[in-house]
Amino acid sequence: MTTHLSFDVQLNPNPRSAAERERVLASPGFGQVFTDHMICIEWTEGRGWHDARLQPYGPLTLDPATAVFHYAQELFEGLKAYRQVNGSIVTFRPYANAARFNRSARRMAMPELPEDVFVRSLELLVQTDRDWVPSTEGHSLYLRPFMIATEVALGVNHPSRSYKYMVIASPAASYFSGGVKPVSVWLSTEYTRAAPGGTGFAKCGGNYAAAFIAQQQAVENGCDQVVWLDAFEHRWVEEMGGMNLFFVFGDRLITPPLTGTLLPGITRDSILALAGELGYRAEESKISIDEWQSAAESGELTEVFACGTAAVVTPVGKVKGVDREWTIGDGTPGPVTMRIREELVGIQFGTRPDTHNWIHKI
Ligand code: PMP
Repeated sequence: MTTHLSFDVQLNPNPRSAAERERVLASPGFGQVFTDHMICIEWTEGRGWHDARLQPYGPLTLDPATAVFHYAQELFEGLKAYRQVNGSIVTFRPYANAARFNRSARRMAMPELPEDVFVRSLELLVQTDRDWVPSTEGHSLYLRPFMIATEVALGVNHPSRSYKYMVIASPAASYFSGGVKPVSVWLSTEYTRAAPGGTGFAKCGGNYAAAFIAQQQAVENGCDQVVWLDAFEHRWVEEMGGMNLFFVFGDRLITPPLTGTLLPGITRDSILALAGELGYRAEESKISIDEWQSAAESGELTEVFACGTAAVVTPVGKVKGVDREWTIGDGTPGPVTMRIREELVGIQFGTRPDTHNWIHKI
């Protein structure tokens, strides 16, 4: 659908100097420094989307009774802009993020944003702040579209009658600056992330708010990340805090099915599509923690990796739970993990052919 929503462009009169920007880009970290502009679009009941604009990056002024502060009617997306080896600036499958944004919006009783407006908002921000797209190998510009409920009222009998959509951008270093390192994971049996009928498949802030305590527990137990299990038996693997999981049995790849309780990762979907071309058989099927442990111990399970926009593909080396602990392979990154990682990174940075038309030029 094409929507006639034109953006008003208000350029920042005081952008950061080239020297300041270069200082940030030399060591960007993740999500700490933002570019000079942002996108805002308003939605009001009866009127729909209006007042689309690019404006200088800066704080918002919101009434303390604004709905988002109280009932967390909010959702977000995450994707990256890459500077390819030939100098082009691109994003990876932005229409897939647009579609997921709208699936989240439906679950949260929020208005859907036409996909072309979502993608146009990313293009406009990245075009304006293109000098913030890093050229260091493996670095990128992280894009964070989000939407908040803005009605000023404390009633809980209906969803908000107004919303604000925004996009902000932040340069990001490669997740693994010192080379790809396996992560250790904590099996969360005390807490659950999502249950059937809940919001597990939606990228809403509330899912993440409820996850911090389990992440703290993972760190207290010497692990890097949480693995979420099903809500009833605490037995079936779902996903990690911010990544989906793949299990490698020789040339067979298994990833948990999209049951509504886990986030449908775009990296996950891309790996399912690429696997066959790389000579692997990929399938969506349930895997229990008992099977994970016994197959790792017997050597049948050769590798496990996590995947997501932030780190692309990350090997999992060690697993720990309340009463169990095991390692996968010899605890170092395996060949299938690294092959898939290289393929995806290659497509994103333009060193491998994009046969699926996933690359969207800005
Ligand atoms: N699961 C969760 C809970 C996430 O937050 C993310 C990051 N968006 C993912 C999986 C991976 O999704 P994607 O590949 O689209 O980044």
